[in-house]
Amino acid sequence: MKLIDPFGRNITYLRFSVTDHCNYRCHYCRDENHTVKTSRQQVLTYEEIVKIMRIFAELGIIKVRLTGGEPLLRKGIVKIIRLISGIDGISDIPLSTNAHLLAKFAQKIQQNGVNRVNISIDSILPERFEKITRGGDLSKVIEGIDAAKQAGIKPIKLNVVVMREVNDDEIEALTDFAIGRKIDVRFIETMPIGTAGIDALDQHYSAAQIFKRLDAHLPNRLIASKSEQSAGPAKNYSIKNSGSSVGIISAVSNHFCSSCNRIRLTAKGRLILCLGQANSVSLRDAMRSGMSDDELKSTIIKAITNKPEKHEFSSNVDNIKAAQMVEIGG
Ligand code: SAM
Repeated sequence: MKLIDPFGRNITYLRFSVTDHCNYRCHYCRDENHTVKTSRQQVLTYEEIVKIMRIFAELGIIKVRLTGGEPLLRKGIVKIIRLISGIDGISDIPLSTNAHLLAKFAQKIQQNGVNRVNISIDSILPERFEKITRGGDLSKVIEGIDAAKQAGIKPIKLNVVVMREVNDDEIEALTDFAIGRKIDVRFIETMPIGTAGIDALDQHYSAAQIFKRLDAHLPNRLIASKSEQSAGPAKNYSIKNSGSSVGIISAVSNHFCSSCNRIRLTAKGRLILCLGQANSVSLRDAMRSGMSDDELKSTIIKAITNKPEKHEFSSNVDNIKAAQMVEIGG
């Protein structure tokens, strides 16, 4: 069975935010005073996770990215990974993390089914890093990156949100940092999700500007990747004579909605059809109301008919003001 939306897009990728909690407070991601009030009863249980993932797999989902909040803060994260990796049809389980706890978890998550990780790191200057994350510890993150490498997780991708006059002067240094470790790096435009993200638009630094800087830093060394489609919304380049690649994600200046194959599930079991739209449906409530598997499948299929053609970052800002990226999972 396949999940095809009204615009012919085949949905095969689910981003699952396993917790609303995060140990960092990146200023473009959550408001300074944002607190998480989610209780244990509100989040999906192991049984509910297995049930809904099995149903998603039967509907054609093959990739489940674990995100958050900070996924490594979720109690039982290794068990969750093991349970999901045991589901027939799910063949790809990447994890997005700030890597603060990765040194402790790298080996365990690798052994239980996480084949690759994306690590958020917006600066390699300790003080600046602490400022952007409102308290983060760069040395822990670097320890986490090195532990992931040691554990054989591959690829490891660094995710850098580029902000004018905040960290745009580090594009070259972060690229060299990745090359030095033979890992990949992706530079991301700020997205206007929630008031934190909308405020960050003041520091917007465009994909075109990022490319110009990279091209000047690595003359004749950027080879455009042919498999862009499968790689998602990034424009990817392998870097000649290195074991690394660099990508640029331009969700705002050049959106990639026509090839969007993803949906999102929050820790509380809310299915979100588009990052830049308010449409959602509670699969947790559907499960807790005693729906059968077939009814749950119908609920998901119906929800997919509401997946919008494209996000409305620029024209419908009010719609997404109330959202918090930290709860949606990026
Ligand atoms: N804690 C994990 C992490 O740090 O990767 C997972 C959750 S985090 C919300 C996922 C991704 O969303 C991170 O790479 C983060 O930089 C990105 N993100 C959050 N707010 C954003 C915004 N306003 N614009 C662009 N990217 C954003």
